[in-house]
Amino acid sequence: MKRGQKCTLTATEGVRNDTCFQGTVPDYYVDAQSVEDIQKSLRFAQQHKLPITVKNTGHDYRGGSAGVNTFAIWTHNFAPDPVITENFTPDGCPGPVGPVVTYHAGQIGTHLYSSLQGTGYMSVAGSCSTVGPSGGWVAGGGHGIFAPSFGLGVDNAQQMKVVLPNGTYVTANRCQNQDIFFALRGGGGGTFGVVTETTTLLHKDQEFSFVFLQMPVQDVRAANEILVANAERWSDEGFGGLYGVTGIEPGSNIIFLGYNANLNLNETKATLKPLTDYLQSLPGSESMLLEFKTQPNQYAAQNDPALLALLLPEAGVSLTRSSRLVPKKNFQTADGQKAIVDALMANKFGWGAVIASPTNYTLAESDQPGGPGEASVSPAWRDSMWHLTYGTNWDPADPVATSPEALATMFQEISEAMDPMRAITPGAGAYQNEADVYEPDAIGSFWGEKNYARLLAIKKQLDPDNLMSCWNCIGWDVNDERHECYLNVRGIGPSN
Ligand SMILES: Cc1cc2nc3c(=O)[nH]c(=O)nc-3n(C[C@H](O)[C@H](O)[C@H](O)COP(=O)(O)OP(=O)(O)OC[C@H]3O[C@@H](n4cnc5c(N)ncnc54)[C@H](O)[C@@H]3O)c2cc1C
Repeated sequence: MKRGQKCTLTATEGVRNDTCFQGTVPDYYVDAQSVEDIQKSLRFAQQHKLPITVKNTGHDYRGGSAGVNTFAIWTHNFAPDPVITENFTPDGCPGPVGPVVTYHAGQIGTHLYSSLQGTGYMSVAGSCSTVGPSGGWVAGGGHGIFAPSFGLGVDNAQQMKVVLPNGTYVTANRCQNQDIFFALRGGGGGTFGVVTETTTLLHKDQEFSFVFLQMPVQDVRAANEILVANAERWSDEGFGGLYGVTGIEPGSNIIFLGYNANLNLNETKATLKPLTDYLQSLPGSESMLLEFKTQPNQYAAQNDPALLALLLPEAGVSLTRSSRLVPKKNFQTADGQKAIVDALMANKFGWGAVIASPTNYTLAESDQPGGPGEASVSPAWRDSMWHLTYGTNWDPADPVATSPEALATMFQEISEAMDPMRAITPGAGAYQNEADVYEPDAIGSFWGEKNYARLLAIKKQLDPDNLMSCWNCIGWDVNDERHECYLNVRGIGPSN
């Protein structure tokens, strides 16, 4: 039993003078840099019945890219330069879909954005540019600052190549291997095979209006009320980005970081006036950070210092989250808005609403439920306005904070904090990539029962021995040895 084993690795000091245990870190890694490397690794694992994990950037909040006593395929170095194709026809399809970019398993957002800079094109990928767009990002859904207008990662993917668990290399798209294409776009990473490359739509690059606002507020409820009351209008107007309040205590910071391709700078200022006027009327408003500007293109937008300052400190930090996709209908009545504010005020961690749902994006006919391009993400994405997140972190080198008991309390608290929001959004979902490790209704929240049933059937066909698996992934076994380090929280966890 490896639970409680740790390695006092800190972001600032490195490894402390202490014993480092293996914990959940796999015993063996293959540094896979080609399709052949991945095929050989998977065939070897099949031959020896080795449990497999796949790691790209290691950003997985739920630990899916590691596992006790697993054989790990590390894809980080499989990252040749992205390739643009002007008029791309997916294999087996009757005609072209338009301009696309193809990138491999180890590519990260930073390289994708810089390779598109100056081409006149932009592409959806993570707000945080260190995330792997061909790895867990697209496998879980994939949101970013432009998802409200251009769709999720799964909507933009035109073709994916994957080595299946038995070593077979296949190409999946809307015209062939549709079941696999469905599973790879929302079914979750590390489950259906190792994706080697993703081909995704390009859009004409453009200017974006940008706003960044930050200020401490004494009356947190009033600040929440303004954000909730305006939320639907801001979403309808096409904002991407995020906003929220960092806590419930007086002095918590209200933050708004928004991008808009539909509104010019004056229109952006005008639509935010209820918020900026309110904040400017408060004592202490001179401490407000407020910046409006035009971002000339995606590269500038993704590299804005305010965005980087907000997101990058999360990388390499011990952090856990809970998530809820909050439906649009909850914002449409006064009672609904009050209930949202009450739920936000019942949570001590502070909140961030990622404006990530594709509210300004029309799902193509082929991608509607039952269509050949249907994705397996929770249908809740399609009528939600917020991907609401709560988060908390801990110091991995603190012996008290990292005891199993302290961690169990923390994971339980962040999970339970979302319960009031779950209660007022029955049937809604959560974003599996940024979800509660101990999500009470993982199947209903991440996929919905219908998608789940199809995914499970595909999983059983592709990987009957369940060698590729991870926590809360399709077909997982909670008592699998690879999950030995997980705790038992809210009745979810290994029975030993
Ligand atoms: C700092 C930070 C910022 C984030 N920002 C965003 C954001 O802006 N938008 C967003 O949507 N999400 C965001 N996320 C969540 C992110 O999408 C998930 O953590 C995602 O799973 C990361 O995928 P990865 O491949 O980079 O990471 P990894 O941890 O390496 O992999 C994640 C999962 O995918 C599997 N996997 C990786 N590569 C492959 C492959 N080639 N084939 C099959 N399975 C694979 C792994 O086994 C694991 O289960 C963020 C996370 C962090 C930590």
